[in-house]
Amino acid sequence: MDVSASKSPGAQPLAPGMLKGRAAVVTGSTSGIGLGIAGALAASGADVLLNGFGDPAEIDRLRASLADTHGVRVTYSAADMSKPDEIDGMIAQATRDLGGVDILVNNAGIQHTALVREFPIERWNAILAINLTAAFCAIRAVLPRMESQGWGRIINIASAHGLVASVHKAAYVAAKHGVLGLTKVVALETATTGVTCNAICPGWVLTPLVQKQIDDIAAREGLSGDNARAKLLGEKQPSLEFATPEQIGALAAFLCSDAAAQIRGAALSVDGGWTAQ
Ligand code: NAD
Repeated sequence: MDVSASKSPGAQPLAPGMLKGRAAVVTGSTSGIGLGIAGALAASGADVLLNGFGDPAEIDRLRASLADTHGVRVTYSAADMSKPDEIDGMIAQATRDLGGVDILVNNAGIQHTALVREFPIERWNAILAINLTAAFCAIRAVLPRMESQGWGRIINIASAHGLVASVHKAAYVAAKHGVLGLTKVVALETATTGVTCNAICPGWVLTPLVQKQIDDIAAREGLSGDNARAKLLGEKQPSLEFATPEQIGALAAFLCSDAAAQIRGAALSVDGGWTAQ
């Protein structure tokens, strides 16, 4: 076999500046895990488009701080991931501002908890739209250019709930299982190209999305914040520690390295042992 014909000659994984000249779109990156991923990609040299909701002054501060700290270009799109035309607009903006999209991280997500028989259809539709359909729309928008340039990285942030279920989370579990299915199909359709598509499946990460669930437990069961947090971890996560946005970001950056070029269609758990049980 002619090894020189490989599409992924052995560059150093995570060499400093490894992503210099690459442009990344990270959806839902004004907070939590998305912000951790945007930081890790910027630290590896990538230009970044931030997306998500929040206070405009705070978002601008984040944008400027990422750009200054890492010496990269950082732009921002307020596109609503529940709206396919706004997703197309976000990709067009990244192409205008950063010259293209080499790395796409589908991270934006929302949660709602209720028994199936009480689950509001509006919440079901919103969760499916933001957590699953948005990833499909963004992937569809970036794939032609990634394939024609022969390099791309698509990373979908699924969840332990992409692999196993919990009560009260019908829409979220359905959407995250769907994300893993979508990841596998895209990985197969791009298998002979320089584009890879993988999913990361975090367990509990202490972000605003999870803080709300801790607050709900505390209110429902009359527990202190600390005890509610310990209960949440104790029920699912054997390490009894949260994973961090920085750890998820580091894995995303690794998936962008040449060392990860043959990781395709994988669901990579960062869950303190949750799905090993
Ligand atoms: P978070 O609430 O801290 O951040 C969510 C981000 O998505 C924010 O930037 C928010 O503004 C943005 N967002 C929400 N709705 C949006 C919309 N319609 N359009 C554009 N942006 C929107 O949440 P997080 O915990 O960081 O979650 C990020 C991802 O990680 C989600 O997909 C979530 O399901 C997944 N996840 C989180 C955990 C966890 O324990 N925190 C575990 C597994 C998976």
